[in-house]
Amino acid sequence: MSRSAHPAGPRHADVLPEGHYSAPPADLNVLDPKVWAQTVTRGEDGAVRVGGVDVKTLAEQFGTPAYFIDEADFRARARAWRTAFGADADVFYAGKAFLSRAVVRWLHEEGLNLDVCSGGELTTALSGGMPADRIAFHGNNKSAEEITQAIESGVGRIVLDSFQEIVRVAHIAHSLGRRQRVQIRVTVGVEAHTHEFIATAHEDQKFGIPLAGGQAAEAVRRALQLDGLELIGIHSHIGSQIFDMSGFEVAAHRVVGLLKDIRDEHGVELPEIDLGGGLGIAYTSDDDPREPHEIAKALTEIVSRECDAARLRTPRISVEPGRAIVGPTAFTLYEVGTIKPLEGLRTYVSVDGGMSDNIRTALYDAEYSVALVSRASDAEPMLVRVVGKHCESGDIVVRDAFLPADLAPGDLIAVPATGAYCRSMASNYNHALRPPVVAVNDGEARVIVRRETEDDLLRLDVG
Ligand SMILES: *Cc1c(COP(=O)(O)O)cnc(C)c1O
Repeated sequence: MSRSAHPAGPRHADVLPEGHYSAPPADLNVLDPKVWAQTVTRGEDGAVRVGGVDVKTLAEQFGTPAYFIDEADFRARARAWRTAFGADADVFYAGKAFLSRAVVRWLHEEGLNLDVCSGGELTTALSGGMPADRIAFHGNNKSAEEITQAIESGVGRIVLDSFQEIVRVAHIAHSLGRRQRVQIRVTVGVEAHTHEFIATAHEDQKFGIPLAGGQAAEAVRRALQLDGLELIGIHSHIGSQIFDMSGFEVAAHRVVGLLKDIRDEHGVELPEIDLGGGLGIAYTSDDDPREPHEIAKALTEIVSRECDAARLRTPRISVEPGRAIVGPTAFTLYEVGTIKPLEGLRTYVSVDGGMSDNIRTALYDAEYSVALVSRASDAEPMLVRVVGKHCESGDIVVRDAFLPADLAPGDLIAVPATGAYCRSMASNYNHALRPPVVAVNDGEARVIVRRETEDDLLRLDVG
């Protein structure tokens, strides 16, 4: 009997189905500290705690699905980045990873700056108390309203992304009687993802102005002529979830090459260089991210080496980590619903959320881990796929993972490392109510973004 005639039929029992998984871990009760927030532990009773609070208590108090963020861990990671880069550099947290007013306050208190890329993010940043001069405004298609809002509020820099924007920002700044500090975002022909970077002509993207063909040099020429602009530096962002520093090496080399050309042509040494974000985190035990101090050391050395070679004063460096700060600090807590074993394939475990609270698996084929957290279990590992409750077969939260075979409806499971790009990309698909974000710290849990309600849904629907 051919397999194609019975695609979902049973397969030989000892042939594991396709997937990205290694052998099951020796003990499913052990939580790998690489992928879980710092204060997460499994208590004597088998239940998991974060910030000293039991997940069963959290589920009772706040419901599921919900995101729980470890405030102490967030602050510690923010501080580690700040300390690693020191006083001669700036760390801009990329707000698009996850932004709320509580987070803005933590960042401010820990001495970080903030990147925003929309009027909504800017409003949240200002409302959370971030001083405007520590905010950078990004985006490839900022509206005139957004540019005006940014300049009027006094943002520290606007990152220019196109020739049209150079003129537009200059014009608006001029008409407001301001001189706006700006950087120009360039594409350096490097695209980095995870363990590889591709040094091809990767200018084929919507962001930035290509170095290739002298376009970036022309953008600089124009920006330097406009009264409304104070050009302070060059910006480059090469990718996401990067572990290998060699992509940054190539990027820094090329950006410094531009700084040198600018010095030679205009007699100006631009004082800043921004190397963007994109540093990777551990989603599963197979990932080995670098520590902030290693990243800081590598980037600082690369830039000063390149500048020495070009006989340039080393500019002030800034970086923009989003995921690397917030990603590891949160997990999503779900309640297990239906469990569907497909013999010879895997067991589908449905949870009370899904692609509406974590689109990354469907969108990027992202990998995640999962653990049973409401109790410990000594049952055998079973291969599972954790899926959501949406009307879409691509609604997968964790593609391949192992959970104990005695898993039952009502158990709580948690997916770690969901702090970045989960709540911020959450949707109302199927009119799902977007889950709350709860900060846990020192035995106390506090809602920082509340759960949506059906009233919220109906309020937008004006009938
Ligand atoms: C998305 C983005 C970042 C942050 O990326 P992470 O992968 O979250 O570190 C930083 N800078 C720019 C310009 C971005 O677009």
